[in-house]
Amino acid sequence: MSEEKDAAELIKGTGVVAGVAYADAVWVRPRPELPQAGETIADDAKDVEFERFVAAAEVVAQRLSERADSVDGNTAEVLTATAKMVKDRGWHKAVRRNIKSGHPAEYAVVAATEKFVTMFNAAGGVMAERTTDLKDVRDRTIAELRGEEEPGLPYVAGEAVLCADDLAPADTATLDTAHIKALVTELGGPTSHTAIIARQLGIPCVVATGAVLREIPTGERLFVDGSTGAVDRAAEPDQAAAAVAEYQERAERIARWEGPAHTADGHRVQLLANVADGNAARIAAQSQAEGIGLYRTELSFLSASEEPSVEEQAAVYAKVFEALGDQKVVVRTLDAGSDKPISYATLDAEENPALGVRGLRVARNNESLLTRQLDAIAVAAAERGEDAPTWVMAPMVATAGEAKWFAGLCRERGLIPGAMIEVPAAALMADTIMPHLDFVSIGTNDLTQYTMAADRLSPQLAYLTDPWQPAVLRLIEHTCTMGQKNSIAVGVCGEAAADPLLACVLTGLGVNSLSAASSAVASVGAQLADVTLEQCRDMAAAAIHADDPQAARAAVRTILGEA
Ligand code: PEP
Ligand code: MG
Repeated sequence: MSEEKDAAELIKGTGVVAGVAYADAVWVRPRPELPQAGETIADDAKDVEFERFVAAAEVVAQRLSERADSVDGNTAEVLTATAKMVKDRGWHKAVRRNIKSGHPAEYAVVAATEKFVTMFNAAGGVMAERTTDLKDVRDRTIAELRGEEEPGLPYVAGEAVLCADDLAPADTATLDTAHIKALVTELGGPTSHTAIIARQLGIPCVVATGAVLREIPTGERLFVDGSTGAVDRAAEPDQAAAAVAEYQERAERIARWEGPAHTADGHRVQLLANVADGNAARIAAQSQAEGIGLYRTELSFLSASEEPSVEEQAAVYAKVFEALGDQKVVVRTLDAGSDKPISYATLDAEENPALGVRGLRVARNNESLLTRQLDAIAVAAAERGEDAPTWVMAPMVATAGEAKWFAGLCRERGLIPGAMIEVPAAALMADTIMPHLDFVSIGTNDLTQYTMAADRLSPQLAYLTDPWQPAVLRLIEHTCTMGQKNSIAVGVCGEAAADPLLACVLTGLGVNSLSAASSAVASVGAQLADVTLEQCRDMAAAAIHADDPQAARAAVRTILGEA
């Protein structure tokens, strides 16, 4: 509805949770002005000053914990983690040191936080995205020290689109979806907390709009489209209201969808869930997902300083297996490196970590790290019922030799081997890789990053790191053709699998299973139920022959409109 508008009327960000909303803008309560260095305190006031800080931090932590108790799932975890940050000993020590040097508590907090922000930014990736949480903890503590109101969410009586530079978990956790209909942020990325929480709450979300968002005043009516990333300041009210009504009707259909998934003419597509721990696995088990298509094992070990023993690892994996009963679980071996540094596995200071020693490559010079993990998976898998399939796949496979080596190690332990197809070379050479394996799963996040030579975390490059890129779809098509020739299953487990429209395209290309966040499963299933396999194939043909992602989406929407 908004193609021909200029940049002042139509703000473009990255859509991270699909859906539309039409409501007035509200802004989160402003962050406190940060104190500058300069003021000093007397020696005999330093102890009292530190106590004042400890008391303020205690109040902030207490509030966050109370909020964590009033919600559940991911949101509760995120809030509990933020409450822990407020109590972090390293942070307290840094504040104490600054107060000892004569700074008042407010500035001591700013300087201590800055130190950690610099460290996290240097680590990059997932760590860098946590800096928003650190700054949130800083701001809440400073407001408390000054006796000011807590920064964060405004009170909203009607319906609103919540705008912010970036949102911290504490802002979003108590967010009431009866009132807040969409989130739009200037910063953030597809994996920032804003995106994670919006996905869990199921509200449309657009991130990385850039500073132009700040021009929107409170009370301005906005039309937000979380699938295209558009924030329209001049939407035609009737059209916007119709789009919202259609979206709500679709939301009701999704709520009624039960699974298992198939197209309108009965072509089966297995829908699975992506998880990182036992808690997420329990949520997946309650969804319509038929099992786990991607268990990202490395996320349990991000903060471990030493490699956990085989027994410790087996206990972690068992938590996921237990939640799933006899359902299929695809375990991915450690994908350490790049944006997921793990101190005991990752090389320090690589020039180009995304192109460096990550994923399976870590094990080339450290095979026992991989074999210990495979031993632990085998131990945990042995506790499963005989009919419970446990598949194991390696991240970042690039050659047939790597696939053969990995498969051999798995088969020695009675595990079913597979590989992620996320390096373009692996897609192109699928015919040489597949004979060694029982299955492959396409990681569209990295496959897009490497095909387009564009950092997946860069908000500036979001237009390139779009899984609708026809170049990426052509590699997927080739992989599916090779999968059929070699009679092995081809799945998709990147974020692309969470996009209902793209799921139709992937099905048309020949993908057999789709694995996405549990919360996305029903919307994908409901969409597939509306189209035939032939329509999916038409959509696939249109998408791979489009010039760019926009044209691909438009062509597919046209076919869907005719369906
Ligand atoms: C991917 O690259 O698509 C994928 C699923 O792996 P990750 O996002 O963990 O790198
Ligand atoms: Mg990947």
